[in-house]
Amino acid sequence: MHYHIGNMLIYQEFKPGCECPLCRIRNILENRLAEQYLNDAVMEDEQRKKVNERGFCAHHTQMMLARKNKLSLALQQVTRITTLKGRLEVTDDVKRALKQAEYFAQSTKTCVICDHVQDSMERYYKTIAEMYHGEPKFKDVLLSVNGFCLEHYAALLQHAKYAHGSQKAYVYDLSKLQKNAVNGLLEDLYTFCSKHDYRNANVPWNGAETALLRAVQRLHGEEAK
Ligand SMILES: [Zn+2]
Ligand SMILES: [Zn+2]
Repeated sequence: MHYHIGNMLIYQEFKPGCECPLCRIRNILENRLAEQYLNDAVMEDEQRKKVNERGFCAHHTQMMLARKNKLSLALQQVTRITTLKGRLEVTDDVKRALKQAEYFAQSTKTCVICDHVQDSMERYYKTIAEMYHGEPKFKDVLLSVNGFCLEHYAALLQHAKYAHGSQKAYVYDLSKLQKNAVNGLLEDLYTFCSKHDYRNANVPWNGAETALLRAVQRLHGEEAK
């Protein structure tokens, strides 16, 4: 069980009716990291080196920009832009210019927070599969949620081998759960659409008011703010 990362967040976020508990876990991690990178303690040499090399993606920069510590973010930007400036070369050599373009095109995509989140999420996918196999009470917890967003559904299936001997039962339960959730969502979407016809004004919503929002979350996940 060396992939085990503690199951506290898993038990906390796998709640009855939850649309995608993994989006919620990821958002908690992203929020923690955004706070941490604004905290002075993070600007130790090792962290500063990583920020210099990898920087932050647009999404995580916006998350930090929305928080209080502007000086800390400004200092991070100073070190990152200093690194990027070092790669900025005035040249009339077209080949060198293309090489430069390649570097700058990828420089907007690398992110220290994304790196951390991806690493942690990998461990969550493995731990969830291991818990399914090793903790009998976890199966009911897993089945209580209302499926997953597509990205996280795919990730759970891709890590099913970590459920070891329970792998077949695990993929069956995951796929059945997801299929039921998608069926329910489609029914609600039909209701949502039909409610735009005045003749259905008296038909009860039965919770379908949120169907469009849930459809977007199902397809694209729920973004951290
Ligand atoms: Zn998700
Ligand atoms: Zn990022």
